[in-house]
Amino acid sequence: MSQTTKPWVIGNWKMNLDRRAAEILAREIADDPSCRAKIKVGLAPPFPYLDRVAEILGHGPVALLGQDLHPEARGAYTGSVSGPMLRDMGVTHVLVGHSERRRLHGEDDNMIRRKISAAVEAGLTPVVCVGEDLAQRESQQAMTTITTQLEAALAADGWPGQGETLVAYEPVWAIGTDRVAGREQIIEIHAGIRRLLPGHARILYGGSVSPDTAGPLAREKEIDGLLVGSASLTATTFLAIVKATTPA
Ligand code: PEP
Repeated sequence: MSQTTKPWVIGNWKMNLDRRAAEILAREIADDPSCRAKIKVGLAPPFPYLDRVAEILGHGPVALLGQDLHPEARGAYTGSVSGPMLRDMGVTHVLVGHSERRRLHGEDDNMIRRKISAAVEAGLTPVVCVGEDLAQRESQQAMTTITTQLEAALAADGWPGQGETLVAYEPVWAIGTDRVAGREQIIEIHAGIRRLLPGHARILYGGSVSPDTAGPLAREKEIDGLLVGSASLTATTFLAIVKATTPA
């Protein structure tokens, strides 16, 4: 973790919680002093709860993220949510290219490029997610896969721009599996990503991060923050990760 910039910890709630549970969790996080100091915390609730979570977070330091956006700003796209809509709700950042979108919703690199452009156009900072699956890892194709994903992202309009460049390395085989990627694997990929991106990119790691693994991960110079799925669904585990990630 760099000594000069605050590390990120982002909680991706995915399609979990109900309205009451989302409110309680958002409030516990918003009220906790550990989310203020030397760290940048963000929450990505399900779309229907964005408005309520935005109200709870208010103008405090915890950032509000979208989990996805449509590549178009408006139109006949039943069930979709656009960048300007997210912006309207107080969202500042948006996950783009999460492996669950790539895998379960058939989003290819071209779609992800368009979504990154749409996010930038709407004034949102995309958190561009990349990562290899197990077959790609086992056939030594991890960096090649990520390079292809990043090259597509770099073809997006306006990305990276003047603001913060955020990329999350999330090996697909480490997501929701209790299998955290090894230190060497993460460092090698993060360094590779850094070489491909112009300027100063912030590279987060995601994949089965827990309160026990967060501290050692956060102390690595190559890791600028953590993207957390399951462990972000309770205040106890998420705040333990936030505290473990906060620089001394
Ligand atoms: C994710 O899906 O972004 C993620 C990191 O999930 P988990 O922490 O549950 O592996």
